[in-house]
Amino acid sequence: MTSYVDVVVVGAGIVGLAHAVDAVRRGLTVAVVERDGHATGASIRNFGHGCVTAQAGAALGYAIDARATWVRLAREAGFWLRESGTVLAARHDDEMAVLEEFREERGDQVVLLPAGKVPVEAVGGALFPLDIRVDPREAVGAVARWLAGQGVTFLWETSVHTIEPGLVGTSRGPITAKAVVVCVGHDVDRHFPDLSRRFGVRRCALHMLRVANPVPHDFDPAVLTGFSMLRYDGFATLPTAPKVRARLEAESPHLVDAGLNLMFTQRPDGDLTIGDTHRYATTLDPFNAEELDRFVLDEIARLLGVARLDVRERWRGVYASADRPFLDVSPVPGVRVVSVTSGIGMTTAFGLAPRVLDELLT
Ligand SMILES: Cc1cc2nc3c(=O)[nH]c(=O)nc-3n(C[C@H](O)[C@H](O)[C@H](O)COP(=O)(O)OP(=O)(O)OC[C@H]3O[C@@H](n4cnc5c(N)ncnc54)[C@H](O)[C@@H]3O)c2cc1C
Repeated sequence: MTSYVDVVVVGAGIVGLAHAVDAVRRGLTVAVVERDGHATGASIRNFGHGCVTAQAGAALGYAIDARATWVRLAREAGFWLRESGTVLAARHDDEMAVLEEFREERGDQVVLLPAGKVPVEAVGGALFPLDIRVDPREAVGAVARWLAGQGVTFLWETSVHTIEPGLVGTSRGPITAKAVVVCVGHDVDRHFPDLSRRFGVRRCALHMLRVANPVPHDFDPAVLTGFSMLRYDGFATLPTAPKVRARLEAESPHLVDAGLNLMFTQRPDGDLTIGDTHRYATTLDPFNAEELDRFVLDEIARLLGVARLDVRERWRGVYASADRPFLDVSPVPGVRVVSVTSGIGMTTAFGLAPRVLDELLT
């Protein structure tokens, strides 16, 4: 059992690993404590989409920095990463108007496309060349193995029970540390219920599916749709965006109600990861409504112009949600609770972590 390190990280999801990567860069000794035998949370259940361009404010800065770290780590740790960009398929003129306004604001980060260059049925679209993709099932484990190779101690199948200044109590005994970073995703309330309530942290459940690619060509860029314009701040704050929301709410209230973000990415084996819907609660019911899967399947089939999709896997992902994109709070000295509370942790964690450690370690 490691008895003393400079930094203890609780949680081996992407947020915890990002802090370990940055602590190692600073030459610090690090232990990562993870209750499971390997990461099985949000970090391996997502699209693997580095959705850089659609972010705004601090998240955009984190995303741009994170992109560089992802590209470096893919090279050094040896995992699959595509600098593929994202295509947003506009299926209505009001969506194209948002993209034109976005292009005005962002310049070269947005390349407008005619309908013929969009890989699904659309009136036009845009390519966001900065965006990247990884296979989350592979990448998260590869980063952990790379960190272990850099001397980071991983305590798998070890639960953290208590967190105090300079002291972490685990199911395998105590660890003392200069600094503690708590990266437990949506489980902030398990350790800090008052803090969680104060910041309005809830759980968000998403329905996701893996389907065989039903068309005879590949999709290198991630594919977003007008529904994505309702969810990412880069679009949602544009003056043209409310018109898209109003139309989608009038045309498909059940889909907007289900929190549909109609999108997909292609896996290295060719299958498509498709999704997703959003349901919010502090404590989630365990029952998956088939109707939500049906919404996703029907809408993706329509987008791809096929009658049906061959489902290979279904799963539910959960992330922390709040009315701010990031929770980054010190409940006691030397301890930082960090959670990405907006569903963009793959995109931003590697940019957020250096800022957290700058403050925590000074
Ligand atoms: C379906 C879905 C799709 C998404 N798509 C994208 C996407 O394409 N792009 C993007 O940027 N973001 C996406 N996100 C969001 C992104 O996945 C999350 O923001 C990110 O993975 C959160 O990482 P995390 O490390 O905080 O959480 P997690 O990956 O959940 O990791 C938290 C870890 O803490 C561990 N833990 C908890 N409590 C303890 C304890 N007491 N002791 C020890 N260990 C503990 C857990 O076991 C877990 O491994 C998506 C999320 C979901 C659910």
